[in-house]
Amino acid sequence: MKYYILFGPPGAGKGTHAGAISEKYNLKHISTGELLRAEIAAGTELGLKAKELITAGALVPDAVVEGMIESAFDTLKGFDGFLLDGFPRTLGQAEDLDKILAKRGEEVTAVISIMIPDDLIRERIAHRAAIEGRADDASEATITNRIKTYHAQTEPLIEYYKKAGKYHEVAGWPGTIEENRARVLAMVDSIQ
Ligand code: AMP
Repeated sequence: MKYYILFGPPGAGKGTHAGAISEKYNLKHISTGELLRAEIAAGTELGLKAKELITAGALVPDAVVEGMIESAFDTLKGFDGFLLDGFPRTLGQAEDLDKILAKRGEEVTAVISIMIPDDLIRERIAHRAAIEGRADDASEATITNRIKTYHAQTEPLIEYYKKAGKYHEVAGWPGTIEENRARVLAMVDSIQ
């Protein structure tokens, strides 16, 4: 079974390119952000707790997203593997993912990292706010905090996966969505 991690700062294009990658390689796409937004929309207790943290630009606790990931792993049918989008986002999550997979006799296959500069993060999130109306895209303060959260808590994963020999990076800019998608797919092809 393949376990790909789709990595990158907010606005890098993970959600935009996830569909094409998962279709091409017959992977089940799991976005922890989307799962959390579904909990919020359904008004569950978990959703209510997550909403506050998400709108502040902070992360939800590791145990919450890990629980969602483990149940998603149990529902695989007809796919060759998973494309994890937005998970892991902390070193603790990365270490726990290794343990969760080891219990299943599996391991992370590769990290597909899409990189863009900080200036572009702001520009893309502002653009997405106008289209999708995501609460965590709306305010400058939240965006600033998400960028800070990314650098402080998520960026250290690059070293973690480089050490494991699993890190593969591609530029998520410049160019059109189609040009970027072609570049991302070419990179994924090269690591098969
Ligand atoms: P995303 O759609 O991936 O940008 O995620 C939206 C928000 O959901 C993030 O800013 C976090 O608040 C929360 N979130 C998503 N994935 C995780 C994760 N792996 N760990 C903690 N919080 C997460």
